[in-house]
Amino acid sequence: MADTLFTNVRILDGTGQNAPYSGSVLVSGNRIRQVGRSTAPIAPGGATVIDGAGATLMPGMTEAHTHFSWNDAPDLAAIQTMPLEEHVLWTAKVARNYLQAGFTSCLGAACAKPRLDVVIRNAINSGQIPGPRYLAASQEITVPGGLGDEMPPHLPFPDFSFGQVVNGAEDMRRIVRMFLKYGVDSVKLNLSGDNFVPGADAKTTWMTDAEVAAAAQEVAMRGKRIIVHARSCASVKQALRHGIHLIYHASFTDEEALDMLEAAKDKVFVAPGIGILYALLWESERWGISHDKAVSMGYEEEWAAACNSLKAMHKRGVRVLPGGDYGFAFNPHYQNARDLELFVKHLGFTPMEAIRSCTLYGGQVMLMPNDIGQLKEGYLADLLLVDGDPLADVRILRDAKRILAVMKDGVFAKAPPLNARAWERAA
Ligand SMILES: [Zn+2]
Repeated sequence: MADTLFTNVRILDGTGQNAPYSGSVLVSGNRIRQVGRSTAPIAPGGATVIDGAGATLMPGMTEAHTHFSWNDAPDLAAIQTMPLEEHVLWTAKVARNYLQAGFTSCLGAACAKPRLDVVIRNAINSGQIPGPRYLAASQEITVPGGLGDEMPPHLPFPDFSFGQVVNGAEDMRRIVRMFLKYGVDSVKLNLSGDNFVPGADAKTTWMTDAEVAAAAQEVAMRGKRIIVHARSCASVKQALRHGIHLIYHASFTDEEALDMLEAAKDKVFVAPGIGILYALLWESERWGISHDKAVSMGYEEEWAAACNSLKAMHKRGVRVLPGGDYGFAFNPHYQNARDLELFVKHLGFTPMEAIRSCTLYGGQVMLMPNDIGQLKEGYLADLLLVDGDPLADVRILRDAKRILAVMKDGVFAKAPPLNARAWERAA
């Protein structure tokens, strides 16, 4: 693996602590070997030199709530009816494109068929296909009538559902053990409902404590992680009661829930996926969801509650991470970095805090806090070269043209432009 020296770059280290500064960065093998200020240039030696011409060099982003196998369809049923063979190819393509978009790490938040995430993770890790660092999820585990149970009453075929439907603690144990056998990193439980599901709205909480406890016990026994869909206030508390520390959505909270989140703030991560709430309310008319329809489905109420909850969490020092639920027609894949803009506009984040949530916090949520998420000597070389200053305008992080280069593990997944006026390889 050739060494790479980035010169003339504006270094944004991803910690949220330090203002960017100009300098150069030497990558040796798959690690960052040296970071230097422009006042003390690094000698290139035999390294390939990339003149950044003032572009920003920052850590790769982490998506904390990813569904590679969601297929950009306008409804939930279409996720499941895609035949398996096409679905594998689709999922591989999506994984590659997330990396190209600047996400060097993604945390799977549920897949559509039992082994899709595991197969894609393994194929990435063995070098068969390109993709981000990836933690593979199970399908969503739900209860009858809940989010993920798409089975029509008169057609009792479980394959209609993109989730696995369980009844009771022992049934939960059976399904969780199946996913653990398949090799998932995370087991996904749908603790609450969702406004997309008739009869099981976002404020409902239908999984019993006995079911959650059985899942938590099995997962803990094998050293894996439980992740939860928890929109309702009761489901947020249920997660915390069972020691579950990766919570998706957390739209509805009260003082008690916020106190519980704050008390666990060194362990807990919240990845709300607010992009889809925004899209459903204001951008989904083309797919039959007018603003009025979205309001009647409960999304205006949930958006307002989520903004209040997440603002309060952020103030209390709870780690809130961007990404989530991209992969629908109205909230398509690869626009995931839009959450950064929404965090700044609606949740009271500074641009620096928004970026930290997908860099420093990204490394933490991926369980690799000492290896990724920071641009720092000794860390793995997961890096983005960005045209412009994301602190001045976070929107550039979702513009493919502005992501000039993506490096994962010391290798370019997206090479910097050759023959461009400002960027050239000198070696
Ligand atoms: Zn999700």
